[in-house]
Amino acid sequence: MNRQDLLDQIEADIIAKNICPDLAKTAKRLVFGSGNIDADIVFIGEAPGKKEDETGEPFVGAAGKFLDTMLATIHTNRSDIYITNIVKYRPPNNRDPLLKEKQAFLPYLMRQLEVIDPTVIVTLGRHSMEAFLPSAIIGQNHGQAQQICTTIDGVAYNWTVLPLYHPAAALYNGGLRQTLYDDFATIPNIINKIHKLDKSLPK
Ligand code: URA
Repeated sequence: MNRQDLLDQIEADIIAKNICPDLAKTAKRLVFGSGNIDADIVFIGEAPGKKEDETGEPFVGAAGKFLDTMLATIHTNRSDIYITNIVKYRPPNNRDPLLKEKQAFLPYLMRQLEVIDPTVIVTLGRHSMEAFLPSAIIGQNHGQAQQICTTIDGVAYNWTVLPLYHPAAALYNGGLRQTLYDDFATIPNIINKIHKLDKSLPK
């Protein structure tokens, strides 16, 4: 199986195992994730909204447009990154995802990450941040990359996680916009540092 087949298999498993049947009933479709499966950066949001539910693509509404603007500031775009959400069906009326919904989808998100194996995981908002950094507080820890070590199917992964505010929060609270731009500006450096470190490690 190639890597795209593996991702397709994870998506098929979510449907076959009937994950979050209540959400599956109220949502129009599963929004699995999209973008470049060879990406250095994976962005993880919260859950699909109305537009995402209609199109099957993550971050295509107002928050997504703002995300595109921020990507441009670091000279990148959607074709360079992969983007997904922790919860993969739209919650009714865009309510916050429940803990049990985040927990139900987490193993599938982890398998997705295992296939893509990015250099940096950028969490957008507190829901996806808490999945990787359970004791972090967004107001204190945003913009600070942290190393995490996790084991999936017996394989240990070291990932760098950068928690950022959710772009929707910055749309509603103009004061956060500059903070988000500033945090975004650190991404290229984080990636360069990790690549340099990888090259200097003995093979
Ligand atoms: N907000 C999210 O967290 N994810 C989306 O896909 C869209 C909006």
